[in-house]
Amino acid sequence: MNPQPETSVLFSRQEIEATVNRLASELNRDYHRKHPILIGVLKGSFMFMADLIRLLDFPVEVEFIRLSSYGGGKESVGKIKVVHGLRTPIKGRDVLVIEDIVDTGRTINFLLEYLRRKRPASVKLCALTDKPSRRQIPVTIDYLGLTVPNEFLVGYGLDWDEKFRNLPDMCVLEGEE
Ligand code: 5GP
Ligand code: MG
Repeated sequence: MNPQPETSVLFSRQEIEATVNRLASELNRDYHRKHPILIGVLKGSFMFMADLIRLLDFPVEVEFIRLSSYGGGKESVGKIKVVHGLRTPIKGRDVLVIEDIVDTGRTINFLLEYLRRKRPASVKLCALTDKPSRRQIPVTIDYLGLTVPNEFLVGYGLDWDEKFRNLPDMCVLEGEE
């Protein structure tokens, strides 16, 4: 069996909690009296989504969408496709996309264009982390948690080869360059 690569903590669970609290306050301020559809991008955003929505004090609907672009490794490969699409109409609705990390921007740019074609009333992006050093396509992040360095992150929902999603802290994967 391959040995598990080492991980080191970048953001502790306490830092993540404080960040999620702050994002929830911003959303509670801006979505007061609204009734948005939150769309989580699977799989990485599931833990963030679960923690975030418990702090929201306006009515929310929760949907998930799954896109494919990554193989098993650390680089986005090839064309982005919708693997599991929306099961509910979003025309005329306020849409809030919940993403784990914006890296090159290719995935989120594709998704935002896909959603806008369905003519929602608004589309905003809430991302837990941003890795701006790797950006290829400009992306406006309306609600941003943490800016991260050019490292491969795992934990708090993020995987490497489907492993490490269960780590409660956000960690850097070591020695896998
Ligand atoms: P992008 O299309 O912006 O390059 O990549 C976005 C997606 O790639 C993210 O939603 C995430 O699923 C994955 N990704 C980007 N950077 C990382 C990272 O450091 N760690 C993990 N586990 N996934 C990443
Ligand atoms: Mg993702």
